[in-house]
Amino acid sequence: MKSIYFGEEHQMLREQVRRFVNEVVRPQGEAWEAAGRVPREVLKQMGELGLLGMRHPEAYGGTDNDALASALLAEELGRSSFGGFSATVLVHTDMASPHLRHSGTKAQLERWLPGIVRGDVLTAIAVSEADAGSDVAGMRTTARRDGDGWLLNGSKMFITNGVTADLVIVAARTDPSQKGSRGISMFLLERGTPGFSVGRKLEKFGWRCSDTAELVFENVRLPEDALLGKLNRGFYEIMKNFQNERLVLAAMAVGESTEAIEQTVRYAKSRKAFGATLWDKQAIRQRVALLESRVEAARQLLYHAAWLLSSGSDAVREVSMLKAVAGELVNEVMYTCQQFHGGMGYIQETAIERMVRDARVLSVGGGATEVMLEEVAKRS
Ligand SMILES: Cc1cc2nc3c(=O)[nH]c(=O)nc-3n(C[C@H](O)[C@H](O)[C@H](O)COP(=O)(O)OP(=O)(O)OC[C@H]3O[C@@H](n4cnc5c(N)ncnc54)[C@H](O)[C@@H]3O)c2cc1C
Repeated sequence: MKSIYFGEEHQMLREQVRRFVNEVVRPQGEAWEAAGRVPREVLKQMGELGLLGMRHPEAYGGTDNDALASALLAEELGRSSFGGFSATVLVHTDMASPHLRHSGTKAQLERWLPGIVRGDVLTAIAVSEADAGSDVAGMRTTARRDGDGWLLNGSKMFITNGVTADLVIVAARTDPSQKGSRGISMFLLERGTPGFSVGRKLEKFGWRCSDTAELVFENVRLPEDALLGKLNRGFYEIMKNFQNERLVLAAMAVGESTEAIEQTVRYAKSRKAFGATLWDKQAIRQRVALLESRVEAARQLLYHAAWLLSSGSDAVREVSMLKAVAGELVNEVMYTCQQFHGGMGYIQETAIERMVRDARVLSVGGGATEVMLEEVAKRS
């Protein structure tokens, strides 16, 4: 569908991502799911194509693109049908490394961004804890002053790329006397730093080729320049990227929904029952057509919200609406598409079986539907 939001450059980018998905992701995705990881070479391949540095400055090898580019990257990755692959990439490009771009010093940017853009350095963002998910302010990990550096203690939960990341951006409490969202700071933590370990790799319902980990910090000594952004202002630093993070999660949901509907239409047109195809049954084709219409409505809100962000406007209301709508809709779409695949929809060799599992987290991660609706209600 033509769109007023995208120019020729965006269109070329979309075609490039789609080609990569068709030629690289679709043929190999099943193997990555079985292995529980995405090979680093694949990420480096994306780096060579310029797909990992779209939100980073040209001076560091990036292409300094906008939120519309992030939305289309996430939508096209979503269409691959491998949610775990999309999560691996998008956490790196749009959820973790942008914190460095927003808050990093020149020295930090020079040190890390070129490797991030090439895919040599994989990033993760560690905010959630076992007792602090939706309510970020409940975090208990601390970083205390220790000479000219910091001593990091605590643990993080559900961290995407946690096992394989070379650089983890960690949120920790730096001023225990301040309560709630105050007194939190962000730190750059390198893999291999003594005291930093992966507690366990978490086995999951879906996103199986994405690694998700519990991270443990035991007296991890961080140098002074590991601080990212302003001291005790970490919550506000985290918030700077919230809208972009939610936008790409919603874009994944729109892409996954589109792919599931296309697969279901193909299946329903070929599957015969009661003397005709499933598609010949009005009850089926109308339910699919209604879902297709609702996905298209979500897609237009996605593009509008991305455009608002790209033009520097406040978009908290629109992005929250979008994340709530798309996260719920993708689950409805998957349920119905699986239903119309009949018994085959329950069998692992059918893509929809995996897509149902992958979609489930999209109404929870990066801001659960209820949390998003509170953001909308505050502005109603
Ligand atoms: C596969 C996966 C990958 C993840 N990756 C990362 C990552 O890379 N980095 C990171 O920091 N975190 C990550 N997370 C954590 C994720 O962001 C949290 O799971 C999410 O924010 C919800 O937090 P919680 O799990 O603690 O749920 P809780 O906060 O305990 O909430 C549980 C449920 O209660 C409901 N709820 C919560 N608040 C409200 C409210 N105010 N009103 C009404 N209902 C409410 C919602 O339905 C919610 O799902 C990941 C999680 C998963 C599952």
